[in-house]
Amino acid sequence: MNVLLTGGAGYIGSHVLRALLDAGHNCAVYDSLVKGHARSVDPTGARLILGDVADSRTLGQTLDENEIDTVINFAAFIEAGESVEKPEKYFHNNTIKGLELLETMRAGGVKRIVFSSTAAVYGSPERIPIEETDPLVPINPYGASKLCVEYMLRAYAHVYGIGGVVLRYFNVAGAHPSGETGEDHTPETHLVPLVLQVPLGMRNDIKIFGDDYDTPDGTCIRDYIHVCDLSEAHVLAAEAIEHGQIKTYNLGNGEGFSVREVIETCREVTNHEIPSQVTPRRPGDPPGLVASSRKAIDELGWKPRFAELKTIVTDAWAWHQNHPDGYDD
Ligand code: UDP
Repeated sequence: MNVLLTGGAGYIGSHVLRALLDAGHNCAVYDSLVKGHARSVDPTGARLILGDVADSRTLGQTLDENEIDTVINFAAFIEAGESVEKPEKYFHNNTIKGLELLETMRAGGVKRIVFSSTAAVYGSPERIPIEETDPLVPINPYGASKLCVEYMLRAYAHVYGIGGVVLRYFNVAGAHPSGETGEDHTPETHLVPLVLQVPLGMRNDIKIFGDDYDTPDGTCIRDYIHVCDLSEAHVLAAEAIEHGQIKTYNLGNGEGFSVREVIETCREVTNHEIPSQVTPRRPGDPPGLVASSRKAIDELGWKPRFAELKTIVTDAWAWHQNHPDGYDD
């Protein structure tokens, strides 16, 4: 395949890039570098084109020049909490620009797409583990902004024959075992990298956003998945695209960990005290999200290799220890 990774200089894109290259596919990366890092792409030798997904001229030219047959779109804003405060930012960047991307693909005759969606499309699920056919009732604009694109994809498949795979990510963490790429967001809002900033001496404690949820220890439960396992699923998904069909898969490990359990695992891995402080709930947070990924395992032949939370945290810790300032050092 000739793959264009839009938003491919970000955390997940840079890992998927390596998995695709390892599988022998040709890849180019298209990124505005608003959030992404050129240094996450450079070592691979893949071509990096600077542009916005809504810039149809530059994107169209890129599709053409690189003879792209498949797009994997990672370009998005991803903070559920922020989306509650600034919904317009999310609908504009994720939904409207998502439509622009589909239109440019249509104009260029590119008919295959893998789309990064999210567990946030399920809102506060009634049952766990969540299956792909469960109700889609997002409780934050982030989830809604992604769900809109899922609906667009189905319509484009029906009318224009595009083929696609929607991947609903649960909580992605960890880093590439080579140490070459890992998580670097500004500002950082995700639990695992924030907790690890305590042993790195970059923060004094970790705030726990609410301990009054209806969960065993009162803190939110999430399903953590290693970024390299997630990346393998993208390769399999891209290879499984079928004309005029949209297939949808959850990607998680099927096991939930509370915020307190994640902090405890970070203590074990780093061998460091990690003080915590309970603060009010973060708006837009559902109490529990745990995936059933049976469908991805059965249909795509996906085999997670780093399912243990301890492994995920260990790889994240190695990255952050070597790159305390991310790609800036
Ligand atoms: N969380 C927390 N303190 C933080 C960051 C996150 O307690 O400083 C909690 C958050 O409320 C959620 C879980 O950790 O329950 C995972 O949050 P994250 O932002 O990593 O991912 P999300 O689930 O929002 O995609």
